Amino acid sequence: DPRLQAISEAIRVVPHFPKPGIMFQDITTLLLDHKTFKDTVDIFVDRYRNMDISVVAGVEARGFMFGPSIALAIGAKFVPLRKPRKLPGEVISEAYVLEYGNDCLEMHVGAVQPGERALIIDDLVATGGTLLAAIRLLERVGAEVVECACVIGLPEVKGNCRLNGKPVYILVEPS
Ligand code: 5GP
Repeated sequence: DPRLQAISEAIRVVPHFPKPGIMFQDITTLLLDHKTFKDTVDIFVDRYRNMDISVVAGVEARGFMFGPSIALAIGAKFVPLRKPRKLPGEVISEAYVLEYGNDCLEMHVGAVQPGERALIIDDLVATGGTLLAAIRLLERVGAEVVECACVIGLPEVKGNCRLNGKPVYILVEPS
């Protein structure tokens, strides 16, 4: 797909952010360019529009930058998966392990019904720990996770990655 090269080039790499040694993939520069932003959303929409998906679940915070546009275009609802103590209603929580320490994702009870077909979206997959927590949240309420989608994935993850048996669709590798 010729659009992928421009998408890759629109992502800014910020060395040593948020700490020394990390090459941070900054997707905010992709959002500044209407063409690459739209191409990114369009590629996901073309892939998912006929897959009978009723839920797009976005991972805080950068999954929120792509998820709602995709949801509106494919006729699905958007469900935010948030960091702890952000959602005001009753929640279910999934803890997960990060490179340094732990984190947790929460989802509102009642947002997703048993049997619904879900797409999970985030900007980047590295170890897959975040997406695994998201998958568990949706499966705990009886949803069927059709696929996870990310703009960026590490080379060892791209192509044949499956998390807990779920396929992960990735557009580009970090540069
Ligand atoms: P994982 O759980 O797969 O190890 O890490 C993925 C999560 O960390 C995602 O929620 C992603 O937003 C965040 N993340 C880690 N490194 C980067 C990075 O370099 N750039 C961006 N945009 N997000 C990152």
